Amino acid sequence: MNNLIDFPNDAERFQQRLQRIIENDINGVLVLSEEGTIQFANPAAARMFGRSVDDLVGQLFGLPVVVNEMTQIEVLRQGRPCPVEMRITPITWPDEPALLVSLHDLSERIRFEQELSHRNTHDALTDLPAQQLLLEALDQAIYAARRAGTRIALLVLQLNRIAMLNVSLGHAATDALLLEAVRRLQLLQPHTLARIHNEDFVFVMDGLVDDQDITRLTDQLRAVLTDPFDWEGSLLPMEAIAGIAIYPKDATEAAPLLQCAEVALFDSREGGRAGFVYASPELNDRVQHRMANEVALRRGFANGELEMFYQPRVSLSTGYIVGAEALMRWRDPQRGIVPPMEFIPLAEESGLIIPITEWALEVVSRQQKQWLDVGCNPVPVSVNLCGDHFANQNLPATLEAILKESGLPPELLELELTETVAMEHAEKTINQLRAIRGLGVMIALDDFGTGYSSLSYLERFPIDILKVDISFVRGVVNNPDDAAITSAIIAMAHQLGYEVVAEGVEYEAQRKFLADLRCEEGQGYLFSKPVTSAEFGQLLHGCWCYPGQPPPEVAEPIPTQLVLLDASVARRHLLQQFLQQSNFEVYACALPQEVKSCVTHAAISILLLRDDIGTDAQELLDDLAAHHPELMRVMLAPPASLSAMSALADHRITHILSTALPPQRQLNFLRKLIATQRGVS
Ligand code: C2E
Ligand code: CA
Ligand code: CA
Repeated sequence: MNNLIDFPNDAERFQQRLQRIIENDINGVLVLSEEGTIQFANPAAARMFGRSVDDLVGQLFGLPVVVNEMTQIEVLRQGRPCPVEMRITPITWPDEPALLVSLHDLSERIRFEQELSHRNTHDALTDLPAQQLLLEALDQAIYAARRAGTRIALLVLQLNRIAMLNVSLGHAATDALLLEAVRRLQLLQPHTLARIHNEDFVFVMDGLVDDQDITRLTDQLRAVLTDPFDWEGSLLPMEAIAGIAIYPKDATEAAPLLQCAEVALFDSREGGRAGFVYASPELNDRVQHRMANEVALRRGFANGELEMFYQPRVSLSTGYIVGAEALMRWRDPQRGIVPPMEFIPLAEESGLIIPITEWALEVVSRQQKQWLDVGCNPVPVSVNLCGDHFANQNLPATLEAILKESGLPPELLELELTETVAMEHAEKTINQLRAIRGLGVMIALDDFGTGYSSLSYLERFPIDILKVDISFVRGVVNNPDDAAITSAIIAMAHQLGYEVVAEGVEYEAQRKFLADLRCEEGQGYLFSKPVTSAEFGQLLHGCWCYPGQPPPEVAEPIPTQLVLLDASVARRHLLQQFLQQSNFEVYACALPQEVKSCVTHAAISILLLRDDIGTDAQELLDDLAAHHPELMRVMLAPPASLSAMSALADHRITHILSTALPPQRQLNFLRKLIATQRGVS
């Protein structure tokens, strides 16, 4: 077998080979005599010194101070000092004592390190300094301005359309636009132009003397930034907003000056006041205050200080609770109960609204399930949503998971969204609302009348309930315009098949007016303010709410007994199962005679029957109408069923329940009937 390494067998050949290896080494190698004269140099060493090998040999290198250790020296190459790492080892060469110098060129490594540090201190796209360098440059500018008695303007600029262009035209276009913006800004010869937090440019102009200088500068900036930008032949408008801070008026040091401008920018952005906003102490205070509030809210949420209150929705004809709205409160240990208007907007701006609403949905679902389990008479409870929930597509999945986790029947949960939210992301919203309704959860449109208020447009939205805004309800009794609008809204909503809830009912006269218009439900201080879950549980137990009439004496939750008459076994079975799951006690009958005996022997509230009945059933209905007038006789029928309509006209039945309604609405209809009956009896 051959050796892998071919060792030469005589000393001379060995030395030749060694020399060849050394000559090809990328590290520099020198051999010095005992006096420090260069005896040998390899080409790499020659390159390091910028000389030839022949040039080097015979030169005095000098004697080393440190032996056998790495040291760093600088060698002159073409007149410039270059960093080199050096190690010196004593050897014999060829038979005399000598010194072997190994040299390692550090210029590449140092250049790489510098590049890395440049990258960390500069923006990759524009090569502008980033925050740290900006602050250093600002320090210098402030030092000079202090001595010269001049002012500095610092602007944090944000190009408004970048995110949108990124989506519509792609990164290449936005990069080109950013570079163009930088080019234009450089033309104004700022002291420093920097790019921080990716989105924002910082423009520092020094040497300003009076207010006019500052105004002139902002005018120039506005002009260069609003000039349309040419992208492949099309002119794209640019828009910029800015926060402006002035040295020495707003701050006398670099970091606070930058912060003042950022606060002003924040105000311009959040306040929707697109434009250039100057820093001011009041603004600073306001934003600091807001930030402190946001921190407090986050902490409060984490500490479990949020709580859901419940405000009953009441049947306007009977005063019975037929639903409720869950309203959030913040029990701040210092401030006491904080109303939602003081923290929901903050939660929306800070993005906290998403986890907070998910929490609200969970709490309400769990609470509802508890009420259901302890035998209260549960009613649907609605939770308020805001626009952010529809911007993403996962609301239906979240809801589904929450319902599954809590085990709550979906018809006991409702969602409220305002018209404005509905219209904002119309298509996305419609799709998600459909999916949500598919889960069996009903949707209420909140604050109706305060937004677009287009009922015909609303037809496209899958909505079950319309809540007429408090601003109309307030005036129904003494303002003829409000009365007219409210009655028109109620009539049109009914035509579209919505149930109507009047918000903010405070007086009996309002209730009467709305009840006369057949507005189904009301919510307001007349019935109850929003109350804690414990108090609402009590209200539910009595299912009573409307003051002025004595509450019924209900010690035990009322059993909801229902008799179902349907000749078809399969249909009867399905319906029976569905109703039983929803806490009804169901007597299923195939024949009219069976119904009669049920009604005589049990406390039945409702008879539910199909519209395809024979003469036997007609006789039964007549008999029940005569002997059990309190029993509600509800016919399940498709829309415009002639037999159902004539049965209603003949008072054989008391109500028609449309089979075209989704199951959960049918159920709600039944629940409300029961509540109504309890109010009347
Ligand atoms: P909203 O959804 O329109 O809720 C109805 C508001 O009217 C509630 O104010 C309720 O207390 C009040 N109200 C009820 N009846 C009357 C009345 O007879 N007279 C008067 N003057 N007011 C009445 P609240 O609880 O202060 O809530 C205010 C708003 O905060 C809500 O308006 C809703 O937009 C928002 N909000 C409340 N809770 C939540 C929540 O959990 N999530 C979200 N996203 N928003 C919520
Ligand atoms: Ca609401
Ligand atoms: Ca409302």
